Amino acid sequence: MENLDLSGRKALVVGIANEHSLAWSAARHFRAAGADLAVTWLNEKARPYVEPLATQLEAPVAMACDVRAPGSLEAVFEAIRARWGRLDIVFHAIAWMRKEDLQGRLTDCSADGFGEAMTISCHSLIRMAHLAEPLMDQGGSVMTLSFLGAERVVDHYNVMGPVKAALEASVRYLAHELGPRRIRVNAISAGPVMTRAASGLDHFDALLEASAAAAPLHRRIEADEVGRTALALASGAMAAVTGEVVHVDAGLHVEGLVLRS
Ligand code: NAD
Repeated sequence: MENLDLSGRKALVVGIANEHSLAWSAARHFRAAGADLAVTWLNEKARPYVEPLATQLEAPVAMACDVRAPGSLEAVFEAIRARWGRLDIVFHAIAWMRKEDLQGRLTDCSADGFGEAMTISCHSLIRMAHLAEPLMDQGGSVMTLSFLGAERVVDHYNVMGPVKAALEASVRYLAHELGPRRIRVNAISAGPVMTRAASGLDHFDALLEASAAAAPLHRRIEADEVGRTALALASGAMAAVTGEVVHVDAGLHVEGLVLRS
């Protein structure tokens, strides 16, 4: 059981790929605090990894969602509307960029590659907020995940740096627009954690090591620490916090990070 209570709250979590996903950690904490969950998997390839986790979460809404596919995200919100008629929490934990952009310089990023990375990793948050707004009739908490590369140059983060910067700016504008409806919008800027998405970045092991060495707390973070922060942001404990980027990075953001490999 959790100290913070989300009994009866309805939460959508998008971005679970497997048990290492930051979204899985958030989903477990929401469920342990009493929330009912809606979770998604990307496609049929991902389903065998995610569906058993959805079962563990006793999620009454569990379905595919590829934000690139027309109507896919809308279908998730329609399923939530049909099941619950309302929603309290949205946890957005998705990012994607083309392989050549993942491993190439921002300087060389094509317009198409930039657009795709933005659409999937940033505009999807805006779409989720848009679809959630009419369902959040008692206010709500919308969260997303960012990284230090939004604020500072982090070697090998490439196009995802500007994309996360846009994501953090979107958090502030969404918080401004949705505040009057008591919908809070925040980002968690997580320190590096080995996940499927992270393993695609060049030199990620070096990034993990350098982060632990540079951070004031001299350690890495655990996915669970992101989940616990998400729980706090979802709960009344942080009812006055919106438009914020909460750094869950052992303090790394006050030091910066130099990684030349
Ligand atoms: P992950 O691989 O577990 O999760 C990434 C998710 O994005 C997957 O579930 C994948 O299915 C989903 N996704 C990709 N394209 C999608 C699409 N078109 N439609 C729907 N879903 C799609 O990795 P993660 O590290 O848990 O990533 C979650 C978020 O956390 C990302 O936004 C990432 O940038 C952010 N983040 C990660 C770290 C880290 O070090 N792992 C640090 C800071 C921020």
